[in-house]
Amino acid sequence: MTIVMKEEPASARRERGGRTVVEVDGARVGGGHFALIAGPCTVESREQMLEAARAVRAAGAHMLRGGAFKPRTSPHSFQGLGVEGLRLLQEAKEETGLPVVTEVMDARDIEDVREVADVIQVGARNMQNYTLLAELGRAGLPVLLKRGLAATLEELVMASEYVLEEGNERVILCERGIRTFEAAYRFTLDLLAVPVLRELTHLPIVVDPSHAAGRRELVRPMSLAAAAAGADGIIVEVHPAPGLAICDGPQALPTESFARYAEDVFRVAEVAGHLGCRECG
Ligand code: PEP
Ligand code: MN
Repeated sequence: MTIVMKEEPASARRERGGRTVVEVDGARVGGGHFALIAGPCTVESREQMLEAARAVRAAGAHMLRGGAFKPRTSPHSFQGLGVEGLRLLQEAKEETGLPVVTEVMDARDIEDVREVADVIQVGARNMQNYTLLAELGRAGLPVLLKRGLAATLEELVMASEYVLEEGNERVILCERGIRTFEAAYRFTLDLLAVPVLRELTHLPIVVDPSHAAGRRELVRPMSLAAAAAGADGIIVEVHPAPGLAICDGPQALPTESFARYAEDVFRVAEVAGHLGCRECG
């Protein structure tokens, strides 16, 4: 059975049949280019951010992640450093030269975020915030759109249309795990989404194994599986001291073993047909 979409999305229409390659300040995602995006869940401090950035850069990652505005389940949890976090991301970007991926939750923050972000992340909880998506379409920056916790692939593709409709074709789709009856891990990583989204759209597809796994032991095998499934990239959480992380520590890979992890992910991505991953950036 194949999905028959009720409406043909613009992301499916590509006459020359090619796939979209999203170019981000020298890094490329899609169309055979594999990107490793890594960094902490949340920007916590200058030391934490710089240490993480240096480690992921040394391991060959192509982009740096880090949240300054965090979508937390509880309003009593740390909500991110906000504008101060953006400043620290800027410093990490200047030092390492890595493009930055960071989340926007509120359209009122786009102006501040675009000063530093090379890719704007829309988190799972905002996948269907259509006014935010349209605003990001107009902002014109590349968008990394995460699949909602209970969204179908058709709903994800249709959400991406809100960005494309505004003339911004630089959208990266992200599978990050969906909610099922299974409670043995945080979310169920739906790796079938990778080849099926490839049938449905020409947009690049990356996988976030961290938020699905919830535990670092599960991140490496699921990263290798995602690369084997043909993902155009992986976005993964890394922390210099996971035990001290303010947010998502149990799923963070320690910086000290990250180079080995990256090496293995690149090898599998190459086997799956992606170009020399170490030169993708
Ligand atoms: C994140 O990337 O840190 C995050 C909160 O992701 P998600 O929106 O997928 O839960
Ligand atoms: Mn996180």
